[in-house]
Amino acid sequence: MITLKNLHKSYFTASNSLHVLKGISLDIHQGEFVSVMGSSGSGKSTLLNILGILDSYDKGSYHLDGKLIQNMSEKNAAKYRNETLGFIFQSFNLISFKNAMENVALPLYYQGVPRKKRNKIALEYLDKLGLLEWAEHMPNELSGGQKQRVAIARALISQPKVILADEPTGALDTQTSYEVMEILKEINKDGITIIIVTHEHDIAAMTDKIIKLRDGIIGDLIINGELASFKRSFSKNVATI
Ligand code: ADP
Ligand code: MG
Repeated sequence: MITLKNLHKSYFTASNSLHVLKGISLDIHQGEFVSVMGSSGSGKSTLLNILGILDSYDKGSYHLDGKLIQNMSEKNAAKYRNETLGFIFQSFNLISFKNAMENVALPLYYQGVPRKKRNKIALEYLDKLGLLEWAEHMPNELSGGQKQRVAIARALISQPKVILADEPTGALDTQTSYEVMEILKEINKDGITIIIVTHEHDIAAMTDKIIKLRDGIIGDLIINGELASFKRSFSKNVATI
């Protein structure tokens, strides 16, 4: 589903440059539930943003669902994102002046689905996430866990192949975090590939594979709780998962 080969990314500012990803190679297959760990500033969000076609890379290659993701126009990137990817964020990113149903329906609005139809589908997804009676409520009337469930419904509504989540439990208490992880596990059982960034070990332990970023490369790869063997070379760091 996702293949990265020797991926590099630097940020350039007026005074200096920062080499964040220094040759990331990995395969993520359809239906895998993967977490990305690493200390603050290790490039987790950078990697996720590249996977989400929200940012570009400098060197190497990125294939998503068989397609080379490179030099895409913003229009094409937006279209491909909408068709293939769903996003979940730490801070939920709900629109404050729209109710839960309208927030969930938003991706269908961008696809040109008429209001009545998209709201009906949004209600179905809210129902799936146990939030039907909250459909008319505004985000500020919802708890953190409810907001994240609305965001998950919004991610699901365009039937993505891959869900990318940057610290989806980062703003939630432990109990609510586990509930959100259970929901993500259920979604994953339907065959949707899920990649989450987290710095919480107990959250990462609930996924099938843990990618640990260190100094711009993959430091460790843990599969079902076991440290996987690595094929190392001088310039590359290849993880097969
Ligand atoms: P993480 O998510 O692991 O905490 P990030 O991927 O957000 O790390 O950032 C990796 C490094 O790149 C950090 O040192 C950060 O300050 C820097 N960085 C992130 N985004 C930008 C940007 N747009 N411009 C310049 N530097 C950036
Ligand atoms: Mg981050």
